[in-house]
Amino acid sequence: MSLEIICTECGADTLVRKEPVYDGFKKVGEKVFCISCGYEFSNENEILYQEQKKPAIFNDSDKSKKLDIFKDEERTRNCRHCEYYIVNPFVQRCSLHEKEVDATDVCFDFKLKEQKTSESESEGDTTSE
Ligand SMILES: [Zn+2]
Repeated sequence: MSLEIICTECGADTLVRKEPVYDGFKKVGEKVFCISCGYEFSNENEILYQEQKKPAIFNDSDKSKKLDIFKDEERTRNCRHCEYYIVNPFVQRCSLHEKEVDATDVCFDFKLKEQKTSESESEGDTTSE
């Protein structure tokens, strides 16, 4: 256990000094003093160890990972990744349903388009005016 404390008496960010208490030759306990002001803590509960003031860190990485996978699955069902998705400068269409679609639409007849390894997928982000 860390001996770093915040002293409840003098408020210092400091350390404790422990001295064993003997009854004859038998150790019966410990006295705990503040190094800064010499205050003797009467019991352990009075001592504010620095570990205790830190907020507990919950490891929820597993949980968020599951959420991410779910999100990815949703995303891949979007029309823009679909085999039937046709995009031209004016309209985005679904060649299967013969209708206008949006890139972010989710379709139950979704068929994953084969990814072409070209860099020409510039999201229609033309900055020409
Ligand atoms: Zn103190």
